Amino acid sequence: MGKISGFLELDRIDEAAEAIQTRKHHYREFVLHLSDEEAKLQGARCMDCGVPFCHTACPVNNIIPDWNDLVYRQDWRDAIDVLHSTNNFPEFTGRICPAPCEAACTLNVNSTPVGIKSIEHAIVDKAWEMGWITPQAARISSGKRVAIVGSGPAGLAAAQQLARVGHAVVVFERNELPGGLLRFGIPDFKLEKKQIERRIEQMQAEGVEFRCSTNVGTNLSVADLLADFDALVVCGGAEMPRDLQVPGRDLEGVHFAMDFLPQQNRVVAGRKVADQILASGKHVVVVGGGDTGSDCVGTSNRQGALSVTQIELLPQPPQEEERAVVWPYWPIKLRTSSSHEEGCERAWSLATKEIRAGEGRSQKKVRALVLVEVEWKRDPVTGANRMSEVAGSERELRADLVLLAMGFTGPLESPLLAQLGVERDARGNLAATTDGADAYRTSHPRIFAAGDVRRGQSLVVWAIREGRQCARAVDHALMGSSNLPR
Ligand SMILES: Cc1cc2nc3c(=O)[nH]c(=O)nc-3n(C[C@H](O)[C@H](O)[C@H](O)COP(=O)(O)OP(=O)(O)OC[C@H]3O[C@@H](n4cnc5c(N)ncnc54)[C@H](O)[C@@H]3O)c2cc1C
Ligand code: SF4
Repeated sequence: MGKISGFLELDRIDEAAEAIQTRKHHYREFVLHLSDEEAKLQGARCMDCGVPFCHTACPVNNIIPDWNDLVYRQDWRDAIDVLHSTNNFPEFTGRICPAPCEAACTLNVNSTPVGIKSIEHAIVDKAWEMGWITPQAARISSGKRVAIVGSGPAGLAAAQQLARVGHAVVVFERNELPGGLLRFGIPDFKLEKKQIERRIEQMQAEGVEFRCSTNVGTNLSVADLLADFDALVVCGGAEMPRDLQVPGRDLEGVHFAMDFLPQQNRVVAGRKVADQILASGKHVVVVGGGDTGSDCVGTSNRQGALSVTQIELLPQPPQEEERAVVWPYWPIKLRTSSSHEEGCERAWSLATKEIRAGEGRSQKKVRALVLVEVEWKRDPVTGANRMSEVAGSERELRADLVLLAMGFTGPLESPLLAQLGVERDARGNLAATTDGADAYRTSHPRIFAAGDVRRGQSLVVWAIREGRQCARAVDHALMGSSNLPR
């Protein structure tokens, strides 16, 4: 703890952002990292708590008080080493993590939390700028070969950890470029893709081989991989979207969010997309109030939508959580993203009854949603929340483009899953525990699973954690022991 009275004297400093009116016209990142001096003052607020709740709330258990102190002392070189000791890719989490650490920060009980995420962002950007992030190739080869299916954050973290202890690692990716949802789901204005590219270069220099445009199960069999490699790690994600089963679902102009978002990311990367789904000049309705929906809002505004409305079935959460009750846990409260601030109507407790078509030449195209207000009441006997429609509340909402962002139900059913033939859990994810001798191991002794494909659609920071822990489990299985951190 650098400055004993820092938490009493200094306020939280939020990162500055480019003005809405200019950032709405481009897809570049618009959040500016803290200056050295601002980061120092933010680090000075940390109380170095005896029980650092931030550290336990962070899925990768970042050693937050230590790097807060190092930044306060302006020892950036040691700060990046401490940060990298628990997180392979802080430039991803420093930009797009919802920061459960900040919700758990002791200062959050009665004040504003330390800007932990902004300090992480500043440390890793400085480290790249200074050229401190270099390849760390293993000095000795283990002679073992590991195949990883999927190059999202889980696959990348597992690959980097395994290569650094000397295994020959090949990452197979069905898309044309690596990165998973970091590259094709998350818009560039939240995470520019150069952040992924320089990590891939680092990993290649560490010996990781990437074989893209390879759909395992379709143009390369699981049996071939098991014959060629000592272990197979499946990090294939959980991209099965929840559908809206109402009349009119098949009309033109109704799309899943993940049909829409990757197209724009490809266009930003300079590739051609035939018949791109565009919001330009349209009234857009995003169905689903979560983060994927918020990314659809930001992308629609940048494409030039006439209006954007985001609707949600659940009731509006409270503006503020009851901190004395929920701290240090993740609170359910109203979250307004930078995309919402750029322009969006938001409405809650609305169910979609029907999707209506236009008339005449537009009779195959969406024209409106029929919505009904719903009420949520707790069943006094079972305690479960029950939904009921409010009589007479039906109304139409104009829509030329409907984007369905209602979450994901599990991994995509695919030849990969069929060929793996391993046990699945009740939600269809690949079944594997995270503890004990068989951590991350599926029902096949040489097949491991990590990230969304195992835990269901989640967060980048959880995927990094699982990739790292799974790497340790694989290393242990191959070598009989492992020095990799858990
Ligand atoms: C639109 C959107 C926005 C999000 N925003 C955020 C955010 O801001 N912050 C956050 O923390 N989380 C966010 N998430 C969640 C986060 O992106 C995921 O939890 C995370 O990427 C999961 O990592 P993963 O490595 O398990 O899977 P993924 O990132 O899904 O990667 C899986 C990879 O496996 C590949 N694959 C699948 N099958 C095969 C096969 N048969 N052969 C070869 N390759 C295959 C896929 O092509 C993909 O590249 C967002 C998700 C979405 C959809
Ligand atoms: S909980 Fe907050 S104040 Fe305490 S160590 Fe963590 S960042 Fe510092």
